[in-house]
Amino acid sequence: MPIYEFKCTNCGKVFDELRGLSKRDEEAICPDCKAKAERMVSSFAAGNSSGASASSNCGTGGFS
Ligand SMILES: [Zn+2]
Repeated sequence: MPIYEFKCTNCGKVFDELRGLSKRDEEAICPDCKAKAERMVSSFAAGNSSGASASSNCGTGGFS
């Protein structure tokens, strides 16, 4: 099961959460302030929306 990284929209806390693919788009709850957290785009799981991606090349322009 993949681990997704979330960032709290309220306090900015970043945390990881294990969840299945079917639930990857569900909101997470910040463990600190219980606010909504949004999923961060993980570098290895790119190919989502933003174009201009160097295919199969880790390490260049990976800062999102
Ligand atoms: Zn928070």
